[in-house]
This record gives sequence, structure tokens and C-alpha cells, in this order.
Amino acid sequence: MTAHLGPVRAAGTTRRLVLAALAGAAADLAGVALIASAAWLITRAAEQPPLAALSVAIVAVRAFATTRGVFRYGERLAGHDVALRAQAGTREGLYEALIPAGPLPQRGADLLSRMVDDTDAVQDLLVRCLLPAAAALVTGVAAVILAGFLLPAAALVLAAGLLVAGLLLPAATAAAARRRSATIAPARAELAARVADLVHGAADLAAYGAGGRALSAAMAADGRLGRLERGQAWINAVALGIGMLAQGLTVVGVVLAAQAAGLARVPAAVLALAALVSFEPVLPLAAAGERFSGVLAALRRLREIRATPPAVTEPADPAPPPEPPLTVEVRDLVVRHGGREPALDGVSLTLTPGRRVAVVGPSGAGKSTLLSALMRTVEIESGEVLVNGVDVRRYRSDDVRARITGLTQDPYVFQASVRDNLRLAGPEATAEELSEAVRRARLEAWAERTGWDTVLGEDGRTVSGGQLQRLALARALLFDPSVLLLDEPAEALDEETADLLMADLLDATRGRTTLLVTHRLRGLEQVDEIVVLEAGRVVQRGPHADLVTAPGYYRDLWESEAMTRQR
Ligand code: ADP
Repeated sequence: MTAHLGPVRAAGTTRRLVLAALAGAAADLAGVALIASAAWLITRAAEQPPLAALSVAIVAVRAFATTRGVFRYGERLAGHDVALRAQAGTREGLYEALIPAGPLPQRGADLLSRMVDDTDAVQDLLVRCLLPAAAALVTGVAAVILAGFLLPAAALVLAAGLLVAGLLLPAATAAAARRRSATIAPARAELAARVADLVHGAADLAAYGAGGRALSAAMAADGRLGRLERGQAWINAVALGIGMLAQGLTVVGVVLAAQAAGLARVPAAVLALAALVSFEPVLPLAAAGERFSGVLAALRRLREIRATPPAVTEPADPAPPPEPPLTVEVRDLVVRHGGREPALDGVSLTLTPGRRVAVVGPSGAGKSTLLSALMRTVEIESGEVLVNGVDVRRYRSDDVRARITGLTQDPYVFQASVRDNLRLAGPEATAEELSEAVRRARLEAWAERTGWDTVLGEDGRTVSGGQLQRLALARALLFDPSVLLLDEPAEALDEETADLLMADLLDATRGRTTLLVTHRLRGLEQVDEIVVLEAGRVVQRGPHADLVTAPGYYRDLWESEAMTRQR
């Protein structure tokens, strides 16, 4: 059991859990006591005794009716408090596990479904499985003891009935749901992924008339999930029916036993009604059994995420963070993604303070992988990266990323104001620093026109590709890393916008240690060295003037760029 609970953060929850279980049990016990005392009161009253003989029972009925409500309220409050805390803690633990893991193999929607639905399961585990089971156990045992005092034979019948409804049925629903539970969560993730495709890919789907197909795929996923969930509902409904049948038969059995033993009318009525009501907390356990299977499947999926190994190994005894200015030396670097061919195969380059190096090469040459290795988001297979003469693996990866970082390939606009989108890179930045970064990224006019408080992002104002890259550049300049990394800043921009951006970018990075990954050669005469990568290897290197005259990838690309411009 504790192994299953691996992903659940239970800090400080045990005390609250016990409190909630006690309140739940007290509420159910008060329910049984209420019905038993009411049964006694009604049947005794039918015998028309003096009123004084009933006064204790009258008070008891009132007291149990009131306390039941109070205890139930307490149970809901404490139960949900502990469940929400456990859920929040679990989610927090997952985030902590995910941060060092780097990009995950799961699709975004699947991951989201795990983060949302599967962590909800933690709440269900406590509120819908463990707490009801504890309350049902206490109530069942108490009812059997009460019945034992009145008539031992009836207690046996009641115990048998309660065991069927409270143990056998939940075990059966859990077993029946086990196979389904393993398929329901992936089916839900599949539906989430299909819906995400429909929403995010709407423009492409419309452009190629593929909306119908995508919609049918989503409907099919919805249908599959619906069928599985209906199956679950069936199991629950049948189990509840059997449970109620067990309840009815038990009450009949108790009444027959009372008759056979010649029990007086009053204790017989108390016995029968107490038996009837003691099933109340027990009947929902069948559905809890089914849910328990689902919860175990969800916890398994959470464990999978938590078990994702970190992208890079952190040093046991980290070196103190490197002091700027930084010198980065890459020596014979080999990096491999999974078991594939090396993405980088013996790459060397040096970035001394203030030096700007550009990396060019065809798509898939390993350019982004080189940046990832410098930012410590992929592990080095062999060779080394020295930062101020110390192997980068000896620093904490956070320390490296705090100094060697920059513009990523897919900069993201958050649903936040222009100011807050920039402040991401400098929460403490003053208004002057913000303006300076924006000015150097040549985004000043846009920022003034748009307004610093205008909300951008998903439900806000959209930004063009060029503005997005400039926004990302302003962020990078604001962060002011010792070594600025720029990954394809002019990617996906039209010719004119790209030329303007590159010119501004080369201007803004003058005198700054920069590694620029680019597929555009215009302006590269300004950088100190250009490294041409092909299939993970350095095939050419040198300043623009040398490369453009030597036969090879660089000259070919330069000529084709020139031809495009002439057209
Ligand atoms: P570039 O930036 O030059 O286009 P990349 O560094 O992105 O090249 O990719 C180099 C090679 O590594 C490619 O073959 C690519 O398919 C592979 N690759 C990159 N990232 C990953 C990854 N996360 N998992 C597996 N393979 C990857």
C-alpha cells in the first residue's frame, strides 16, 4: 500500500486524516444511534407508557440528530482539507520532479491530463476510498456489537450481510474495474490530446480541409472513453443493487432471528432498524472499490513521471558558481540523444569574453544540441565543456543556466502584460532597465504604441513573429547573462523583418560574449568566428571573409541568399 502511495505527499496529513476519519465514524455512529433510539421511542410510545419513561429517548433522538449533522460537517471540512493539501503537495512534488527531467516523452496533453486528472485521484483516494472505508468499519463493528447485546444470532446475520456489502462487493468491483482503469486514463489522455490538436491546429486543419477527419478522431476517442466509463457505471450500479439486496435480506434475516428467539417488540424494532441503517455507510464502498482501482492506476502513472531520470546528473560536491567574465571552451564534444547517431560528434570551439561566434549548418546538424549542452539540458557523452577552466559538469546546472542562457528556439508569450512578459527575465528590473532592454531590441516604438500594461498571449493581444523575437531578445538582454545564447532568432520571419532583426541583434550584442545559431548569413562579417556544422561535425570554421571564398556549405548558402535577394 505504501509503495502505491509513493507519489502522494503526506506531510502533516496523518493527524488531519485521523481527525476526519473520527468525525466520519462519529457521524455514522450518530446515524445508527438516532435510528435505534427513534425505533425504541416509537415502539415504546405505542405501548402508551407514562411520558417520563420516554423523556430520555426523546432527548437522545434530538441529541443524535443534531450531533450527526455537526460530525458530518466536521468530516467534510477535515476530509477535504486533508485531501486538497495532499493533492497540492503531490502536484508540487511532481513539478519538482519534472524540472530537472527536461523535455518529457509524453505529449503535452497527456502530461496535462496526468498533472490534473491523476493528481485528482489523490483526493479521491482519501475522500472517496480511505475515509468512507474507515467510517464504515467503525459503524459496522459498532452495529454488530449492539446487535450482539440484543440477540447474538441476529449479530451473526448482520455481520455476514455487512461483510458481503462492505468487503466482498468492493473487492469484486475493484477487480472488475482493474482492467478498465488501466485503459481509462490513457483513453482520457488520448481525448485530451485530440481536443488539443483540434484547438491548437484549427488553422492548419481548416487550411487543408482536414477538420472533419480530426473531429472524427476526437469523436472516436470520446466514444471510446464514453464506452469505458459507461462500463464502469454499470459495474457500480449492479454492485449497488446487489448491496441493497444484501441489506434487505439481512434485515429480513434479523427479523426472522428475532421472531425465532421470541424477542420482545421494542428490542426487535431497534434491532431491525439499526441493522437497516448500519448499511448506509457500507453501501457506497462498492463504488469506492471501483474508484480505488482507478486511483491505483493514476498513482502508477504519477510514479512514471516521478521516475523520469533528470536530463543531467548534478554533481555531488558542486564547484562554486563561475565568476564572470566567463571563458567557455568546448573540446571534442560528443552528445547523443537516446541511442541514436551522435547529434554532436567531436565539436570544439572557444568563447572568450566579448567574443561572438556564429554556428551555421543545415537543419539537424546539431546546432541546438550544442546550445543545450552549454545550458546543461542534455548530458555530455564525451569530451568536455570548460567554464573558466572548470568542467561544466562540476557546477550545479542551475548555476550554469544563470550565466549561460538566452533566446530559445520557440520563445513563448505569456498571458500577461508587456511589462510582465519582460520581467520574467528580471523580476527586480527597474523601469529604466526595462526601457533600455526594449530600446536595444528596437521594440521601443511597439511597446509605447501597444502600452506596457496591455495583456499579450493566448486571450490577449497577438504579437507578430518579428515582435515576438524582439520581445525574446529584450528578455535575454534584460537577463544579461555572461554568455548570451541565441537560437535561430530570425527563424520563420520574412526576409525584410529577418534582415532588420539580425542587424539590430548584431548591434545589440557588440562586445558581449555571444553564441549565435543562425541559418542567415547576412551580417555575419561582424562576428569573430563562424563554425559550420554538418551532421554533428565541424566542417568549416573561420571569419566570414575566409568562408565565403572557400568552396562548401557556407559559400553555397551565401550565393543562394544573394540570388534570393536579387529576385
Ligand atoms: P539543428 O539545431 O542543427 O537543427 P538539432 O541539434 O536540433 O539540430 O538536432 C541534431 C540531431 O539530434 C537531429 O538528428 C535531431 O533529430 C536529433 N535530436 C535533437 N533533439 C533531440 C531529442 N530531444 N531527442 C532525440 N533526438 C533529438
